[in-house]
Amino acid sequence: MNEGRSDLHWMEFPREVVMGHDALLNVDDVCKKLKLGGSAAVVSDNTTRKIAGEKVYEIMCDGGYEPFIIEISEASDSEVSRLGSEGLSNNVSFMAAVGGGTVIDTAKVASKNMGIPFISIPTAASHDGIASSRASIHNGRQTTSVPASAPVGVIADTGIIASSPKRLTISGCGDIISNYTAVMDWQLARQKFGVPYSEYAAALSTMTAEMIIKASDSIKPDNEESVRIVIKALVSSGVAMSIAGTSHPASGSEHKFSHALDMVAEKPALHGEQCGVGTIMMMYLHRGDWELIRDSLKNLGAPTNASKLGVSDEEVIQALIMANKIRPERHTILDNGFSRKAAEHLAVETGVIR
Ligand SMILES: [Zn+2]
Repeated sequence: MNEGRSDLHWMEFPREVVMGHDALLNVDDVCKKLKLGGSAAVVSDNTTRKIAGEKVYEIMCDGGYEPFIIEISEASDSEVSRLGSEGLSNNVSFMAAVGGGTVIDTAKVASKNMGIPFISIPTAASHDGIASSRASIHNGRQTTSVPASAPVGVIADTGIIASSPKRLTISGCGDIISNYTAVMDWQLARQKFGVPYSEYAAALSTMTAEMIIKASDSIKPDNEESVRIVIKALVSSGVAMSIAGTSHPASGSEHKFSHALDMVAEKPALHGEQCGVGTIMMMYLHRGDWELIRDSLKNLGAPTNASKLGVSDEEVIQALIMANKIRPERHTILDNGFSRKAAEHLAVETGVIR
């Protein structure tokens, strides 16, 4: 394999993407098209097992597979290894991840470690990991983004996702809107440091953000048509990352802010909610239309300030001050860091703190 050669660009995409009402009923067809068979680990958590995990298990039993259900509790190194050893002892040939970010990210890394494929069956549309090749895993100290494999198939049942808590889908919209500043940071990194850049990936990523902004006053998280728009955008974001071969198109300074807030806040909000608020502030730094970002998030019903995020003003300031120390090798507009005064100024000017 020449995967490591610098002139070789390796893109990995999902092969089958099915979305719509009762899409879940197509699990067997998707597996057959992908030529998956034998023993399968149906990975879910305590909640998603009841919502869809057991149904997937039943469909697989009827289809002649040998599935077993495994519940995981968190996206961490230890759960990844537990899933891996369970997989080995059951001789699994593929995994079906039925759940939200925790379940999908854990199965993504465990299946990559085992060298087997996985299909992604999201029960919520809360972030862009649904179809991407990267996962967020907690290593005992902090959550880091690790490379894995993209799912070979994605089955997004809009009926199930429309019944998930509204906050999750709205958070997914925040994660997509953050593509705007992520791409701006990527352009800056190219100009200043010659970081490899892809026009295709950048254009696709920006377009998904634009589509959510345009639809922001009509998206209703409990409406299946709206869910379809959000799922398409999340899958497209994942594809943009696959084209780029990195998470640059969907993760920049606003993600650094969110990761920093995860570390300093007593009770962090959802990933996409924090990235949305981060996008307001980072757009201000990029001298872009930050008010459009704020208003669109407001239309969606997403948080636009510290109190709506449920964090303190001081936690926002601390997160801004430490954001440039998160993944320092990824250049963004935050490279030079903030003085306390500059951080306060930014947060006050954009209405994130009072
Ligand atoms: Zn994200």
